[in-house]
Amino acid sequence: MSTEDCLFCRIIAGDVPSTKVFENDRAYAFRDIAPQAPTHVVVVPKEHYVDTADLARKDPTYLGEVLAAAVDVAEQEGLTGGYRILTNTGPDSGQTVFHLHLHVLGGRPLGALG
Ligand code: 5GP
Ligand code: ZN
Repeated sequence: MSTEDCLFCRIIAGDVPSTKVFENDRAYAFRDIAPQAPTHVVVVPKEHYVDTADLARKDPTYLGEVLAAAVDVAEQEGLTGGYRILTNTGPDSGQTVFHLHLHVLGGRPLGALG
């Protein structure tokens, strides 16, 4: 898949509008269009990787940097009561956008994983 075909690459490039929450040299974060919690932010590496497995195998240090960006987002959003960081990998997980992304969810008690 080329970056022209990837929704999140187009968001990172600014070709598709998004509500930016956080950005550093390696990661970009924006509000989810269909929030599942009062705070629901999507954190993506600026470079294209399909999913967590793809980045973990190719550049695990970079995966750590994306995770750290998600923690920065949670702190910036004031999620002092706790939060959930999750990432879907592959069709059985429900992944719909095949550019690795971490969901940061919080702002209410989230309950058990379904
Ligand atoms: P996945 O289901 O792949 O784990 O997560 C994809 C997420 O991207 C979903 O939560 C969905 O609501 C969000 N999403 C899909 N299209 C857009 C969009 O155009 N803009 C934003 N901000 N979020 C999107
Ligand atoms: Zn992409």
